Amino acid sequence: MLKHYRKKRDFSKTSEPEPKMQKIKKKKRKIFVIQEHHARSLHWDFRLEHDGVLLSWAVPKGVPLKKGEKRLAVQTEDHPLEYASFAGTIPEGEYGAGEVKIWDKGSFELLNMEPDLIDIVLDGKKVKGNYILIKPQKFETGSWLIFKK
Ligand code: MN
Repeated sequence: MLKHYRKKRDFSKTSEPEPKMQKIKKKKRKIFVIQEHHARSLHWDFRLEHDGVLLSWAVPKGVPLKKGEKRLAVQTEDHPLEYASFAGTIPEGEYGAGEVKIWDKGSFELLNMEPDLIDIVLDGKKVKGNYILIKPQKFETGSWLIFKK
C-alpha cells in the first residue's frame, strides 16, 4: 500500500515519483500455465491465476485441443503464482516426485466465474480459444470437466 507515501506529498510540487494509478486497477488479463508432470502417473497440471494464487487441476489426459472433447480435471491445492515458471525434477520421495516441464503458458481472459463454472479465453502457444471448466453435481468432490467450446 502506497497511501502513506502518496498522502505526504503534493506531486504537482515535488519531482518525486507519483505512484501510478494503474497499479491499483485490477488487470484483466491473467496468466495460465499447463505443466507436463511425469509423476507416478503422467498428467498435465492446469493452473489459472486468480486472487493472487494459481487455481490448479490435474488433467490425466491433458487439456483438449479439439472442440467438444471433454477431459476430467481433478482440482488440487492452490499454488503460488511463482509456480507458473517452475520446471525441473521433484526429487524421489517428495510429493509429486518426477519431472515437470512447461507444456504451455500464456494469458487468459475471465468471462465468468461461478463456484461450479469457469468460462475463459486462453491465449497460449498451443492452447487457444474459449474453454469451460464445469463441476458436474453428480461428480465426486474436486472432479471437474474441461472442454473447448
Ligand atoms: Mn502434478
